[in-house]
Amino acid sequence: MRKISAMIAAGISFCIVPAKAQFNTVATVPARYKVEVLHTGTDKTEPASGNADSVLGTSAELLAAASPVDADKKIWLERYLSVSYPLRRIRITSPYGYRKDPFTGKKRFHGGLDLHARGDEVLAMMEGVVVKVGQDKTSGKYVTLRHGRYTVSYCHLSKIIAVKGAVVHPRDVVGITGSTGRSTGEHLHITCKFDGKSVNPTVILGYIESTRKECVAALAQL
Ligand SMILES: [Zn+2]
Repeated sequence: MRKISAMIAAGISFCIVPAKAQFNTVATVPARYKVEVLHTGTDKTEPASGNADSVLGTSAELLAAASPVDADKKIWLERYLSVSYPLRRIRITSPYGYRKDPFTGKKRFHGGLDLHARGDEVLAMMEGVVVKVGQDKTSGKYVTLRHGRYTVSYCHLSKIIAVKGAVVHPRDVVGITGSTGRSTGEHLHITCKFDGKSVNPTVILGYIESTRKECVAALAQL
């Protein structure tokens, strides 16, 4: 499991090409992000004096706003913001696949990915719809989101925040991690399905990582 975690940290993504192709259909999010928020940092702290520097600064900003480079920057920033990791820090504690069951000690298929968590906010990874919220003996409190042909469930939550039927945007908080249901300790268990068939959630994590890297690289070229 350390190996997979290290691979993600090192940026070696797997299954990226097919995942990207599949996600392109759901990642075409309309331009709804307030990207300009990112530019306000220095403006607000600037003293409101009418000196030459601040006038020049304003002119430069106006010019930049009208330039094609700025438009490109906005596109890449929007694309960057169209994805989000499900937690603010990603550490895989148990991968998807066969493993020794923590309850029985017997070999059993682990149909999800476990991430280290401690009362953390669980974030929507992209634009989607809340298709199910509930609680059962296995998953505990859970939230299921649909992103195009993918569905993602977040399990063992201590608190459900998402509301069934609601539209979610990347980074929206849908729940708080916990240890409800069949769980030996607090963590976030993520399951992922493509057309109803279970797939490894690292496909989505890899897609998020490659999208962000692509955007950072493009922004650095502008
Ligand atoms: Zn799990």
